[in-house]
Amino acid sequence: MNISFDLDNTLIPHGNVFETEKRNLIGKLLGIEKIRKGTCELIRQLKNDGHNIHIYTTSYRTRRKVKLTFRYYGVKVDRVVNQIQNERTLKLMNINSSKYPPAFNFDLHIDDSKGVEIEAERYNFNTIIVSPDDKEWGKKIRNEIKRWVTRVQQ
Ligand SMILES: [Mg+2]
Repeated sequence: MNISFDLDNTLIPHGNVFETEKRNLIGKLLGIEKIRKGTCELIRQLKNDGHNIHIYTTSYRTRRKVKLTFRYYGVKVDRVVNQIQNERTLKLMNINSSKYPPAFNFDLHIDDSKGVEIEAERYNFNTIIVSPDDKEWGKKIRNEIKRWVTRVQQ
């Protein structure tokens, strides 16, 4: 399955909303952003389970920068969609939603936003919403993905 992750307050904190992975001096000098503790393990597990992992953000970070960030932490993300590409694609499709994962062939999108949860109902796409203060977030995502995969395969 193609699984996409939001960045802000899902994998990258605003302030100190959640604990983060270790970053050394070189990382800091390179301007590598902090990422949520458990991100690397979760992405590796999902990739081992055969999923493709993508980033879908409404921020204007460049794709190169996002890829570099994850590479720094030792994980490879497959595709990065930022706001420039998102806006362009959704406009062409005439979709009035902040996000629409099916436009990029993402089967399931993980986000912290209640707004995205509402859009998911309106536009009929699949999401898992995780709160920034959920310490068991990785476990929640893995369990929900397993449940969702079983449902899809039936
Ligand atoms: Mg967010």
